[in-house]
Amino acid sequence: MSTMLSEVEKGWRLPGLEVPFIREMAEITYHMWRLGWDERNGGNISYLLHEAEVEKYIGTASAAERRKLPLTFPVKELAGCYFIVTGSGKYFKNVISDPEANLGVLRVSEGGDEVEVLWGLRDGALPTSELPSHLMSHIERLKVDPAHRVIMHCHATHTLAMTFVHELDEKKLTKTLWEMCTECLVVFPDGIGIVPWMVPGSPDIGRATAAKMCEHRVVIWPQHGIFAAGTTIDEAFGLIETVEKAAQIYMLLGDRPVLQKITDAQLRDLAAAFGVTPQPGILS
Ligand SMILES: [Zn+2]
Repeated sequence: MSTMLSEVEKGWRLPGLEVPFIREMAEITYHMWRLGWDERNGGNISYLLHEAEVEKYIGTASAAERRKLPLTFPVKELAGCYFIVTGSGKYFKNVISDPEANLGVLRVSEGGDEVEVLWGLRDGALPTSELPSHLMSHIERLKVDPAHRVIMHCHATHTLAMTFVHELDEKKLTKTLWEMCTECLVVFPDGIGIVPWMVPGSPDIGRATAAKMCEHRVVIWPQHGIFAAGTTIDEAFGLIETVEKAAQIYMLLGDRPVLQKITDAQLRDLAAAFGVTPQPGILS
């Protein structure tokens, strides 16, 4: 592993990686792949950029020759917004060694019906096929949190496994996760949203996910993976890490009898100590 890592690290000095948001995307996709959450072309990320950061590194002047890609769903609320996104069919493993082929910087048109490619997605590559879920989720998160910037999707292993063996009831699953590690209630007091199993990539799953994002920063896609929102790459990643850790503990426990656990009273004490409000209807 150390030899492989040093080979990869040579790529961490490639052109493009001096741009802070490109570097953040390249590093986090590499970490996520290494954790086993993004096999093959699994997973996708979109990161809302400020116009000034894009202007500084990429340039924002409109150019007639830039590739324009129509959206099959209107996102007028995001007109003029800039995003860096992972490419469709691209492997997270490869981003770090060739960011320009695997990532793209996009600007949503004034009409909200197409995106313009400002940088990357080389050789005719397209943005992630989950763009509907991403853009619709950004719209909902921005309504409740003006500092929101990141939507992250991956196939976190134990979270995915848990969707086979745990009831898919949002409140019950949230409580189970809160009980697995003391940090969970503090990290996601807003609980977990769950959509039914649906075909990925469609505006339908996008609308269902975004609807859950009004109340929750984490939405689970049963037998598929997890969607998370954050104000930074670290925050979205940390949220997935925490859910995944709790799911791992749950799967490690398996059928063995639980001899002691965190009680509801202790969870309330925890919430009070850290100044968070647990989603109502979960603690007795
Ligand atoms: Zn997926």
